Amino acid sequence: MSAKRDYYEILGVTKSSTAEEIKKAYRKVAIQFHPDKNPDNKEAEEKFKEAAEAYEILSNSDKRAHYDRFGHARGNGGFSGHNMNMDDIFSQFGDIFGGGGGSPFDSFFGGSTRGGRRQRKGSNLRIKLKLTLEEIAHGVEKKIKVNRLIRAEGVTFKTCTTCQGTGQIRKVVNTMLGQMVSASTCSNCDGSGQIIDKRPSGVDSSGLVSKEEIISVKIPSGVADGMQLSMSGKGNEAPGGGTAGDLLILIEETEDKYLKRNGNDLVYDLYITFVDAAIGTNVEVPSVGGKVKIKIDPGTQSGKILRLRGKGLKDINGYETGDQLVYVNVWTPKKLTSEERAKLESLRGSSNFEPQPDSGEKGFFERMKEYFN
Ligand SMILES: [Zn+2]
Repeated sequence: MSAKRDYYEILGVTKSSTAEEIKKAYRKVAIQFHPDKNPDNKEAEEKFKEAAEAYEILSNSDKRAHYDRFGHARGNGGFSGHNMNMDDIFSQFGDIFGGGGGSPFDSFFGGSTRGGRRQRKGSNLRIKLKLTLEEIAHGVEKKIKVNRLIRAEGVTFKTCTTCQGTGQIRKVVNTMLGQMVSASTCSNCDGSGQIIDKRPSGVDSSGLVSKEEIISVKIPSGVADGMQLSMSGKGNEAPGGGTAGDLLILIEETEDKYLKRNGNDLVYDLYITFVDAAIGTNVEVPSVGGKVKIKIDPGTQSGKILRLRGKGLKDINGYETGDQLVYVNVWTPKKLTSEERAKLESLRGSSNFEPQPDSGEKGFFERMKEYFN
């Protein structure tokens, strides 16, 4: 790298130029060599960086005095002027060009939004959303009412006086290895370089105002209780500028009257009479797709599990669909009239009523094993 050019020469000013003259001169050079205006032009970029560095030093009276005495030698001053990155450079603009999204500099380049000041992100909004099993099964579009913080109209900003619009506080720290420059985010402006100047009533200290909005949310099928969906950019807007936070939607599943959920499978407890269990019948069971007819075979044992393939919930990833399991319970009467009692009594001795479990009858443990597979 060639020897460093004189900072005054770079900006086309003299040692007796005022701070205002230096600012004006830098503005001119910066606009001339701005990367947006000179795409893929390395030379312009170098000139742009060089000018930024010169301005960084000459705009600060301490650094300027030091430079006047020692030139480019680093001396005891611990310049932070060298090796500025583009972010540092753009961060100066808040100071020089008035800052904010609507700075003259930005509009000069057609509203370029690049800037080195820290982009603030708005806070996230959290809401709970109750869904029925039916809604979960098919997916649903919900209109949600939220109170968002949005940037208020009529708020004006000014350059942060604590950090001079850079968004950073630079401090020279003495360490065993010599002096080092540490930079930390300005706490006054939270790194944005801008603070509120004027705000209308009802607007908070961040320049935000609460507004009720109806947001349409598409809930995919297969969500589950406790899942959190996130809609990016639908949270609170950022103070001053930057990107809005996210809207976080916590799913709450309301319990269904009939169907219990086990992952993507649904479980239904069916109760039948032992007459139906013995003779067989057709019954209707509820499912998320409407009522389903099922056949109860003659001789159906209590505890039998019927599997309705594909009648469960679609996996949220969309690859698989669960089943509906119908758990057959044979209802034993709790009260009997004397007539009923007499009829049953007459069957007591019948050999067909004697339990005769064979290998076809699955006991409780067998069924559980089957169920979990
Ligand atoms: Zn600040």
